[in-house]
Amino acid sequence: VNYKYAQLFHREQVSSAQSNTTSKQYIEERKTSNGTIGEVLRKFEKGRLLGKGGFAKVYQLTDIHTHQKYAGKIIPKNAIRKESAKQKLISEIRIHRELRHRHIVKFESCFEDQENVYIVLELCPNGSIMDMVRQRGRLTEYETRYFMIQILDAIRYMHRECLVIHRDLKLGNFFLDENMEVKIGDFGLAAQLSSDKERKRTICGTPNYIAPEILSGKQGHSFEVDIWSTGVVFYTMLVGKPPFETSDVKSTYKRIKENIYSIPESLDLSTSAIELIGSILNSDPAKRLSLDEIRSHPFFDAKIPRALSIHALKSTPVFE
Ligand code: ADP
Repeated sequence: VNYKYAQLFHREQVSSAQSNTTSKQYIEERKTSNGTIGEVLRKFEKGRLLGKGGFAKVYQLTDIHTHQKYAGKIIPKNAIRKESAKQKLISEIRIHRELRHRHIVKFESCFEDQENVYIVLELCPNGSIMDMVRQRGRLTEYETRYFMIQILDAIRYMHRECLVIHRDLKLGNFFLDENMEVKIGDFGLAAQLSSDKERKRTICGTPNYIAPEILSGKQGHSFEVDIWSTGVVFYTMLVGKPPFETSDVKSTYKRIKENIYSIPESLDLSTSAIELIGSILNSDPAKRLSLDEIRSHPFFDAKIPRALSIHALKSTPVFE
């Protein structure tokens, strides 16, 4: 079959699929142990709807041969008719498929049929940290340390080893696997730089989490925008709502540019947490803490959980 979008992706990136409403199958090319390319028929059964994104719907998929469960992001081709949308999806796939880290959603495979593009991802059955904060109001410093260490580790890998800036780090993109470990997902706005000197100019991100240098747009932006968003994430986990949130985007941007936020005293946050928030949310990207400086901040000297129980999704853990 000559699929309309087949030339969109290289054959080894996206194989064409046969599908019906409940199952999808496609031929996957794999390198065999002696270096030749073999072909494997993969068939997935479609399960429950896990969530919806911009134009994607994400379903649980089960590989009918291995019984392994995945998350399948299904993007209708008629939603990506615009060249810019198509390019954005191609870029998301190109960047995400190269990333391999314990705290990044694993990109399993990708294929297409006449209607849709399918991205098969590691399943994160426990929702996201955003769901958890919504449910709980806010998180303890103890849990926040646990999540932040995993997040910082994944960002360090993206920045240093892959020259990838995520550009949309927010609680809703920090998914939780069955062991309550963080998996960073959604590389739809990510950029891969050709050198660490390159500057990006596109305005992008989610209003509450966007860095001031993106809004001023003067000298372009780089890896520091992810650090800013990490600061917003850190604040939001501890306080329960983003620092610059207002009822309209314009006032939010004004607050970000003027660095206006406050920390409710009633929450009784530790001085090291407050100090760390301030040093990450520095308007000057050059003065903002580096990933290593954040990691070695005294905030992380206190007790850190080895693991979290899934009960933490719904209620505040009690510590000894
Ligand atoms: P978009 O890029 O279009 O915003 P997302 O990648 O954020 O789409 O996915 C949309 C929703 O699908 C998420 O909010 C979440 O509920 C669900 N989802 C996405 N990826 C996974 C995953 N790996 N495991 C479980 N659910 C997921």
